[in-house]
Amino acid sequence: MSITPISQRKPIMRLVDVCRTYSTGEGALEVLKGANLELRPGEMVGLVGPSGSGKSTLLHTAGLLESPDSGLVEIDDVDAARMSERERTLTRRKKLGFVYQFHHLLPELNAIDNVAAPLMIDGVNRKIARERASKLLQAMGLSERERHQPGQLSGGEQQRVAIARSLANQPRVLIADEPTGNLDPMTTTAVFQSLFDTARTEQVAVLVATHNLELTTYMDRVLTLKDGQLTDADI
Ligand code: ADP
Ligand code: MG
Repeated sequence: MSITPISQRKPIMRLVDVCRTYSTGEGALEVLKGANLELRPGEMVGLVGPSGSGKSTLLHTAGLLESPDSGLVEIDDVDAARMSERERTLTRRKKLGFVYQFHHLLPELNAIDNVAAPLMIDGVNRKIARERASKLLQAMGLSERERHQPGQLSGGEQQRVAIARSLANQPRVLIADEPTGNLDPMTTTAVFQSLFDTARTEQVAVLVATHNLELTTYMDRVLTLKDGQLTDADI
């Protein structure tokens, strides 16, 4: 079997000349000034840059949570600007997964039901949703924790449950905004290893913002946001 190298795969997501300006009390703040990005299935791409450089703005734009002022955001060859509100919502639900610094797990549900929830919202029956949730938790090394509620799990375990949940709908792109910002170094390593394994085994494109340069060992590529543009990081 021949496997196409990542760099030769067709991008699943493209951002072309993306610009975004916020109006603030002190005037216009240009955050993105022509950012370009291509993400391919199976790769893990790091996004670094100091606090305030626009990482979250870029991730929200790629995640169809915010629209750029100009420039193209394309997922699976579809121009996001041409999507209806309903298509945007569906694309977010079906093709994109999100992981944040704070996991937003439902405290009253155990791990398996937290992961199964997005599937059940999409109409998948409970038994099948739980089977898939169980597999995802297993892939995160959490089989022993299926019946635990978030409050009974460590921070790193909670975050891995959140990653499993973000994968429930089999997204093509996983967007993670400082997913370990709240965790100790050991746990951080485990979470990044899980994200990397996910990229490879699920053939998801993972885009992860971090300001911790040590974590770039897990990345296929590292981009830096500087003056509103993305360039290959020099690390
Ligand atoms: P990062 O994630 O790299 O810290 P952000 O994308 O959150 O950067 O923010 C980039 C800049 O844009 C910051 O100066 C921030 O204060 C500003 N900013 C972010 N969101 C808004 C907003 N909704 N309105 C005005 N300014 C914003
Ligand atoms: Mg941020």
